[in-house]
Amino acid sequence: MNRFDYERASDVAQAVGLADRAMANAAESAAPVRFLAGGTNLVDLMKEDVECPHTLIDVNRLPLRAIEELPDGGLRLGALATNAETADHPVVRARYPVLSSAILSGATRQLRNAATDGGNLNQRTRCCYFYDTATPCNKRTPGAGCGAIGGFTRMHAILGASEHCVATNPSDMAVALAVLDARVRVTGPQGERTIPLLDYHRLPGDQPWRDNNLAAAELVTAVDLPPGDFSAHYTYLKLRDRLSYAFALVSVAVVLARDDAGRCTDVRIALGGVAHKPWRVLDAEALLRANAPDRALFEQVAARMLDGAVGLGGNDFKIELARRAIVRALEQAASGRPQSHTDKRIA
Ligand SMILES: Cc1cc2nc3c(=O)[nH]c(=O)nc-3n(C[C@H](O)[C@H](O)[C@H](O)COP(=O)(O)OP(=O)(O)OC[C@H]3O[C@@H](n4cnc5c(N)ncnc54)[C@H](O)[C@@H]3O)c2cc1C
Ligand code: SF4
Repeated sequence: MNRFDYERASDVAQAVGLADRAMANAAESAAPVRFLAGGTNLVDLMKEDVECPHTLIDVNRLPLRAIEELPDGGLRLGALATNAETADHPVVRARYPVLSSAILSGATRQLRNAATDGGNLNQRTRCCYFYDTATPCNKRTPGAGCGAIGGFTRMHAILGASEHCVATNPSDMAVALAVLDARVRVTGPQGERTIPLLDYHRLPGDQPWRDNNLAAAELVTAVDLPPGDFSAHYTYLKLRDRLSYAFALVSVAVVLARDDAGRCTDVRIALGGVAHKPWRVLDAEALLRANAPDRALFEQVAARMLDGAVGLGGNDFKIELARRAIVRALEQAASGRPQSHTDKRIA
């Protein structure tokens, strides 16, 4: 592990100020400045010399752990709330169960007890070449090339990839937040702003080292869930190589609402494990709106969501897997029989 400076902040303004100053000091070395939350991803990457930060700003003492109801009926998840606290929170379980389900499908109880919501959103890709410093990786070293292209691509993207990077975003939580139309609250040297979840993560394009649209020294302070009760028709379906302790090959989050005649009045679908960000296709969702859901329609929605999907050889199977997963997830959500939060075998 390389040498690095360590600072501990006690409030948001101090954390942002420390990060801003450290970035100015680090400019010559080009080494990044990182916020340290639960450390379950960052410290692993530092041990492997994948991340070699100039400075760590420890944010664990910031007052950002609360989960609180908002006056408009929404819910604010503090950036330092742990994944376990979020999944187990009574309001999340009652009104946003797709989020509980997605979080509980990931990692292990011990990890979820340490991992924070801000850290989960900002975790780095699980591309095996990103982790292997003996191979080229544009995300780790801009301009180095991409070891995955032409290599082992089982976990890699089928949508939105570029010639510079074919990695996927590993977060389950982010996929559920995408269907809840969550908004990410951030504070930086220029003040506060909110970023819609769908605009938070980026496609790799020609800058694959940028995972998201945070500006320099910006800190995630919270994630806001808009008001709503998404408990009647939802699911989080995660398909992976092992039933536990594995990242998604493909995952699907769905929330929908039906009127008294059974027609869909609102439907939102997001895919995980297939792109560099949670993948939503609004005109695919529109196919269901105002219609009574049935399998033929679900097949059309799946086809539309996967328009433009391209395999890399080792992951060609994901296109068919995703198609079937979308149809299964829509059946689960429409019938009000979601994938179990605890039994990970596919219902
Ligand atoms: C064995 C294993 C299995 C896992 N399986 C899954 C899985 O199946 N599904 C899944 O979704 N996840 C999985 N994870 C990932 C886990 O969820 C993340 O490691 C965790 O959520 C990261 O949170 P953290 O607080 O530990 O972040 P840290 O490791 O502290 O930080 C991660 C990144 O986020 C940045 N960061 C942290 N907080 C903020 C903030 N407030 N503002 C801006 N940037 C910030 C850090 O600088 C760093 O770059 C797994 C992890 C392990 C080790
Ligand atoms: S896919 Fe992206 S993260 Fe993986 S080796 Fe290529 S550039 Fe690096």
